Amino acid sequence: MNPESPRKINILLALLVLVLFLGLGYLGYQNYRLTQEKTALEIELTNTKQDFASTTEKLGADIEAFKALLVATQNDKVNAEQNARAQQEALDAMSNTLGLYQKLATTDRELLAKYSKTYFLNENYSPARSVTVPSSYTIEPLKEKMISVDVWPFLQKLLDDATTANVDLKIASAFRSFDTQSTLKTTYKVTYGSGANRFSADQGYSEHQLGTTIDFTTAKLGTSFATFEKTPAFVWLKENAYKYGFILSYPKNNTYYIFEPWHWRFVGKALAQRLHDENKNFYDLSQRDINEYLITIFNQ
Ligand SMILES: [Zn+2]
Repeated sequence: MNPESPRKINILLALLVLVLFLGLGYLGYQNYRLTQEKTALEIELTNTKQDFASTTEKLGADIEAFKALLVATQNDKVNAEQNARAQQEALDAMSNTLGLYQKLATTDRELLAKYSKTYFLNENYSPARSVTVPSSYTIEPLKEKMISVDVWPFLQKLLDDATTANVDLKIASAFRSFDTQSTLKTTYKVTYGSGANRFSADQGYSEHQLGTTIDFTTAKLGTSFATFEKTPAFVWLKENAYKYGFILSYPKNNTYYIFEPWHWRFVGKALAQRLHDENKNFYDLSQRDINEYLITIFNQ
C-alpha cells in the first residue's frame, strides 16, 4: 500500500464528515425554519379562527340587534296606529258629545216639561214652527187648528190608521195660545165658577200652548165630547196612541185635573212606549227621568 494512502483516506473521510456535517446543518436549519413557519401558520390559523369566531359572533349580535330594531319599529308602528285610532275615537266621541249638546241646546225643553200650579209655560211661548191641520181631520172645518210641524206626521199617521181601522176619530182642539186659553178659562169660570179649576188649566198652565197636545172627539160627538170615554175611539187610543208617541196626560185618579179621556199629549215614541210597558203615567215620572227622552223626542 502506498504510504500516502492512509492520508488520502483521512482527507477523504474528513471531507465526508464535513459534507455530512454541513448536510446535517442544512437539514437542521431547514427543519428549524419549517418549524418556525409551522408555528407562525398555526398562530395565524388560531388568530384567523378567533377572528372568524368573533366576526361570526359580532354578525350574530348585529342580526339580533337588527331583529330587535325591526320588532321595535313594528311595535312603534302598531303603537302609532293604536294611538292614532285612540285619538280618532276620542275625537269621534267628543264630536258626538258636542253634537248631542248642540242638539240638546236647540231642543225645546218645554216639549217634555211637567206643568203644575208652580211651574208653567211663559205667556209668550208658542211652538217654534206649526202647521194648519187639514180640515178633513177636524170637527169644525171653518176653525183653523194649528199643531207643531214636528208632531204633525205622528198625528196624521195616528188619524189615518184610526180611519183604516174604522174608528171615528177627529180633532176638537190642538194648539191654543195663552190668550185663547185665557178667554176659554174665563168662559168656563162664568159657567162653572171656581170648579173650572178642576178641569181647565189656568192660562199658561195648559199643555195645549205647546202645540203638541190634542183634544180628540168623534164626528158623532162633535164639540160636546164629555162622554168621549164611552166611545170606541177612546178604547182605540188607549190601545194604540203610544205607538205614535201620544199619552193620556190626565188619566183617572190623577192629582192634577179631572180625568180627561180626550186630552192627549205628544211625548215621543220611546217615552210613550216606556209608560205603556211600565203602566205608568207621564206625571208619575221625575222630570230628570223624562228629560232623557228629549233629544230623541221626534225619532220615528
Ligand atoms: Zn185638552
